[in-house]
Formats: sequence, structure tokens, C-alpha cells
Amino acid sequence: MENKARQNPSVAVIGAGMTGILMAIKLREAGITDITILEKADRLGGTWRENTYPGVACDVPAHMYTYSFRGNPEWEHRFAHGDEIQKYFEEVSSEYGVTEQIRFNESLDQAHYEDGKWKLVTSKGNRFEVDFVVAATGILHHPAYPDIEGMDSFKGHMWHTARWNHDVDLTGKRVGIIGTGSTSTQIIADIAGKVGHLTVFQRTPQWIFNIPDKDYTEADKARLRGNQKLMAKLSERYAFVMRNTFTKAVTGNKLAHSVISWMTKRNLRKSVRDPELRAKLTPDYKVGCKRLIFSSKFYHAIQRENVFLETTGIDHISEGGVVVNGGQEHELDVLIIATGFHPFNFMRPMDLTGRDGRSIDQAWEKKVQAYRSVCLPGFPNFFLMLGPNSPIGNYSVIAMSEVQTRYVLKLMDHWRQGDLETIEATEEAKVRYNEYLKAGMGKTVWVGGCQSWYLDPDGDPAMWPYSWDQWVKEHEEIALEDFHRTAPAEIVPIRPAEKAA
Ligand code: NAP
Repeated sequence: MENKARQNPSVAVIGAGMTGILMAIKLREAGITDITILEKADRLGGTWRENTYPGVACDVPAHMYTYSFRGNPEWEHRFAHGDEIQKYFEEVSSEYGVTEQIRFNESLDQAHYEDGKWKLVTSKGNRFEVDFVVAATGILHHPAYPDIEGMDSFKGHMWHTARWNHDVDLTGKRVGIIGTGSTSTQIIADIAGKVGHLTVFQRTPQWIFNIPDKDYTEADKARLRGNQKLMAKLSERYAFVMRNTFTKAVTGNKLAHSVISWMTKRNLRKSVRDPELRAKLTPDYKVGCKRLIFSSKFYHAIQRENVFLETTGIDHISEGGVVVNGGQEHELDVLIIATGFHPFNFMRPMDLTGRDGRSIDQAWEKKVQAYRSVCLPGFPNFFLMLGPNSPIGNYSVIAMSEVQTRYVLKLMDHWRQGDLETIEATEEAKVRYNEYLKAGMGKTVWVGGCQSWYLDPDGDPAMWPYSWDQWVKEHEEIALEDFHRTAPAEIVPIRPAEKAA
């Protein structure tokens, strides 16, 4: 390829959520202007557009949950509410001229790599080709529905938390909620005082850490307006605390873990007085094994007179409600499914085929793995943002995306300078990297005997097991030896008919 064309490659960014917007901004800052952003919905915002349930908020402090280059003086609460976050992304996207570049209501259906280019087909039937594809499709966006007998027979209203039905007013209603994760606890805290009766179906109790929320005053906001430096300082202060407490606690620092553990258990002891209820709410696994829930309101809500915590397993769903083992039926008007997401689907069901005609399903048949979370051997010039083993957890996913975006841009620079003919990590590098991750898992709390969405189908945590600082450091330099220096020759795939012959 001509050197000039290499300077301004064409890039397709899939998804206009937090990561897609960030990627578009940073690509342009790097002088890459030929960008196509495809967004399946009619609005940007990703998870904050999709999750509109009552009580939706971010449990990472708001001033830390911002792009490092664009603080937000207007946060209303320490833990920003969903609509505030949605507004923030809309503002930033528009300020940086990203919104006008987004092709809304158009998803990427097919992406095939051929002759050094990605050939793309969208849901509108549009076809085009690009040098790079960046999948900024998010992690938790495929709702997981429980496999419970009789789900279809329920005659009341029923919906998943990520598909909230705002047409139904919950006031005075008999409501049931299945699941007690981060989402459910936020909903319970918000609706308990409004509904007639709330039955919480808990399969496994969760550890809850209490960090009180705080409303920011007009004076707080005025102090920050126009002062990016001060906002960055505030953000770093929160990040410093998170890194040195929660992040350390889950990745093997015994002192940090015992402090967080003690505070979490004390929260339960002090907040829930009834020993029977407390026993029901006490997990039997290590604090942090499942994602630690931050809430200052949940224990209060669960102790309300109109709230009942059901811990007997669900037998089936009937026309009128939920029947638990032993036959007791909880009659309900509304049933909320708060059972989480399929975290390993990533950019699928997109029909994605890399070099040699290998599909992503084939590549991930045995295990969903990547090199440094973003590079997939066999899929040159393709980047999966927030891929497997990104250090997700109780930290800002924006900070993670910023590190990965810088990493991807450094890789693109090597391609632009001609150091790499294509950007493709080798299979050996991926294997080595994943062995390195595995070696660190043993000391983490995620292997502490609980089931969580952090674990892949083999029970291995798809998380980053070392420190945040180490993760950042390891993304500063590109290990060129981990990449194919020249494009590997393509093997023409054998079609089924040829095989049979
Ligand atoms: P989740 O953490 O995966 O929780 C799902 C809940 O549903 C669990 O209590 C689980 O029980 C239960 N469940 C699943 N299948 C069930 C079944 N068949 N029968 C009964 N119960 C079942 O999902 P989530 O609450 O939606 O949260 C997912 C993630 O989203 C969070 O961990 C977090 O990363 C993110 N999130 C973040 C925020 C934020 O403030 N930043 C807010 C909400 C969500 P078991 O524990 O027994 O499996």
C-alpha cells in the first residue's frame, strides 16, 4: 500500500457507546479522519441508553467515571444517575463532532477479511471496505434470561432490567424480582417504597459495601466549571483510593482484602438487626468473589415491611406468579428479570470471518481468549475493545478504554510507519499471554468458590489478575515480536462441498 494511504487508513468503529465515542475522538486527534461509526440504535450511549431501570446509577464515583480529557462539573451526585451519564456522553460526542459522523440504526452484520481489507455489510445492505475494524460493542449487552419452567405462561407484565417497560406504573403493585446483583439491588432500593409488595427471589446472597452517595451543590459545581485541572485532580484522587483498596483487595493483597472484608461484614452486621434475615443475606464466599456491590440503601429497603426476601429456590412460573420449591406461590402483577447478561458474546452475533475464512465462533470454539484483550490471532487489523481479561471490576471502565485506545493507536502507528504489514498478534503470543494471566489468578478472590459472570464456561476468571499500574505499564510499549512482521499467507478455505468431494 502507498505510504500516503497508510497515513490516513479507513476505520470502521462498531458501536457509539462510551468506547466508540472515545475511539473516534482519539483517531481524529491522531490524524485519522476516514472513520465510519455504525450504531445499531437511534441514539448513542451504549449501556446508559439501554439501561433505564429505576435507580440506575454508576457505582464508580462520577468524577472518576469521565474521560480524562473532559471532566464534567455538572455531576449532580457522587454516583451519577443513568440519565446524567447519558447526557454527558451526548454532550461530549457532540462537542467533539462525533455525533454527526455516526450512522444510526445501522449495525454491522458481516465483516470478512480479504486481501488486506475488511469487507463489511451492514443491516441496511450497505457494503464497503476498510483497513481497520474496531469493535466497541461493549460487554454486558446481551440480556440473560433464566431457564425457568413456565416463563411464557405468566399473565402479568414481565421484562428484563435492560428492557425496562416504562408504560407500567409500579405504584401499589405486587412486584417480584429475580436476581440480586448490582442491577437488582439498585432497583430494589428505588422501588421498594413505591410498590405495594415486593418479593425478592435470591439464589445467592451478595456482599454489599456501603459508600454513601452525596448530592453536589451549585457551589461544588461552580468551583469545578472551567477548571479541567481540578476535575482531573479529583478524578485521580478517587482513582487512587479505588486502586489501593478495592483493586488490591481482589487481586491478592491480603491486608487490603481483610480491611474491605471487615468493613463489608460490619456493614451487614450493623445494618440488618434480625438474625434470621441477616443469615439469609450472608454469603458463604469471599468478599469480592462476585463483583462487590456498592449500596447505602439496599439493606434499608430489604427490611421494609412490604418487602420479602425469598430464598427457597424457584420451581416454576405460573400464570399468576412464581412458585417456589415446596409449592408456595407468590402472586404477582409484575415480574422483573434481573438475571444479568451473557458477557462472552461480545460483538456476536456479527458474522465475523478473519484470515483463512475462519469465523470468530471457530476461533473461540474452545475458549474466548485474546492477546492483551484486544487482538485476536487470525483477525488482522481488528480490535476488540474491553475484550476478555480487561481489568473490569469495581474500577472505571472509561479509564480501561482509554488505556486500550492508546494501545490500539500505537499499534496503528506501527502499521502507518510500515513496521507491521498487518496488525496481527501471533497465536504463540496469545497462548503465552493467557498463561501469564492464568499464573496470576490463583491469588485472586475470583477463584474463591463462587459463581459469577467473571468466570468463563471453564470456570476461569476472564479478568486481569495483577495491579492496575502493571496493566497500564504493560500497555505503554508494543512488543513487536508478538506480532506477525509480514502478513501470513492466506490459506484458501476449503468449502464444505469441496471437502465432501
Ligand atoms: P449479575 O451480577 O450477573 O447478577 C445476576 C443475578 O441473577 C444474580 O443474583 C444471580 O444469582 C441471579 N440469577 C441468574 N440466573 C438465575 C436463575 N436462573 N434463577 C435465579 N437467579 C438467577 O447481573 P447484574 O446485576 O445485571 O449485573 C451485571 C454487571 O453489570 C455488574 O456486575 C456490573 O459489572 C454491571 N452493573 C454495574 C452497575 C454500576 O453501578 N456500575 C450497575 C448495574 C450493573 P447467582 O448469584 O446465584 O448466580
